[in-house]
Amino acid sequence: MSGHVHIVGGGLAGLSAAVELAGGSERVSVYEAGPACGGRARSYLDRQLGCRIDNGNHLLLSGNPAVYRYLGLIGAQDTLVGPKRPVFPFVDLADRLRWTLDLSRGRVPLWVLSKRRRVPGMRLAELRGLLALMEATPDMVVSDCLQPGSLARRLLEPFAISVLNTMPDTGSAALLGAVVKESLARGGRNCLPRFPAEGLSESFVDPALAHLSVLKADVRTGSRVSAVEMADGSVAALHLGDERIALGPEDTVIMAVPAPVATSLLAADLPGFSAPDQFESILNAHFLLPQAPVLTGGLAQARFIGVVGGISEWVFVKDRILSVTVSAANRYATRDLDELAAIIWNEVRAAIDPAATVPLPVAMPPLRIVREKRATFAATVQQDRLRPGMRTMAPNLLLAGDWTATGLPATIEGAIRSGHAAAQAVHARRGMPGRPK
Ligand SMILES: Cc1cc2nc3c(=O)[nH]c(=O)nc-3n(C[C@H](O)[C@H](O)[C@H](O)COP(=O)(O)OP(=O)(O)OC[C@H]3O[C@@H](n4cnc5c(N)ncnc54)[C@H](O)[C@@H]3O)c2cc1C
Repeated sequence: MSGHVHIVGGGLAGLSAAVELAGGSERVSVYEAGPACGGRARSYLDRQLGCRIDNGNHLLLSGNPAVYRYLGLIGAQDTLVGPKRPVFPFVDLADRLRWTLDLSRGRVPLWVLSKRRRVPGMRLAELRGLLALMEATPDMVVSDCLQPGSLARRLLEPFAISVLNTMPDTGSAALLGAVVKESLARGGRNCLPRFPAEGLSESFVDPALAHLSVLKADVRTGSRVSAVEMADGSVAALHLGDERIALGPEDTVIMAVPAPVATSLLAADLPGFSAPDQFESILNAHFLLPQAPVLTGGLAQARFIGVVGGISEWVFVKDRILSVTVSAANRYATRDLDELAAIIWNEVRAAIDPAATVPLPVAMPPLRIVREKRATFAATVQQDRLRPGMRTMAPNLLLAGDWTATGLPATIEGAIRSGHAAAQAVHARRGMPGRPK
């Protein structure tokens, strides 16, 4: 073995680095503070509902290259499911309007020419907003790029809020533009909505752990790194409570913890370190129905619906569970959760009932609300500038995580890319070719 790579954090960035490195010439260890890996993308048994749920709904796209590379390496590419066509059903609660955005598969956006397939009420001139996003400079916010009208209100603003987890008047246009370039601009083939058939852990975590176990990588849960000891500008040791893990000259640390943890472990002793320090929350409401709804139309195909003109943004239908996502949820931080739940349940009924063979119960079913307070960094222009690169002033310390300078907002794609990039840097340090892309 040519060295030992110590990966701190068993979220998807850390697991992605581990999966890339395991089975190579490095010994690989992952230290995860929590009882299980997965970080902000995990499933767990909810005792209140008596079933497994994801901490939050995660929507991915067929054109997320790093996600599919990672799933391929761990043999889990078939665990993501979704409609065969790039369809996105929507309801506008304020205007009582329903439509299905039906993108063309290829790069030529023929869908904009069909009133049946595009956003109702949109003017073709509004499409200039998409071009403006793709050409945005780092100092522009999303609102600077959008033209007022139905396309902005019914698609681009909700899209911005979910992708950036930040409101359009402060959200970075360049970060949203990067996602548009990798999705819409590459055609509907790259925009097929995808989500785990079973759960986030069953897709992204459990197969990775099985793969790492076969390749003899060491994954330690319940192992919080409490301090990073520096000497002569390099990491000399990691401390896990009373345990001290000394680094040899060939060893590397990949720090794949959330931004606030990285700041507390590194900022004092690492010259030039910076990280985002403002965060946005995401609220998920999971409702357990007496039986799975039977759906019709676009909703039956997609198994989710976008909601405009309410608090809810997306409703996902997973068998007996209806899960609602509310992004950029700091704006609701002071609202009473019971009051929010009642409003959200009424919105769910309005969104689902017209497409269900039997209406949902009027009375709110058992529910679980999960508020992830620091779901992502606030994807503002200012916070984006604080994101550090993967390399640090310490030659044996690399950074990974959705908050590092991936060029994308805080997403699974960004997290996995960052882990992959850190693994490639380890290979480069040894003068070894990485695994092919
Ligand atoms: C509710 C919600 C909804 C989301 N929806 C989407 C979506 O639809 N699509 C999408 O692409 N992305 C979505 N995201 C974002 C996505 O989940 C994250 O970008 C991604 O999971 C981040 O992975 P990470 O490895 O960078 O960080 P994390 O998942 O935070 O992993 C860091 C890990 O480090 C561990 N750790 C912390 N401190 C220590 C320590 N001292 N020692 C050892 N370990 C430590 C943590 O326990 C954690 O497991 C969503 C996030 C949330 C919260």
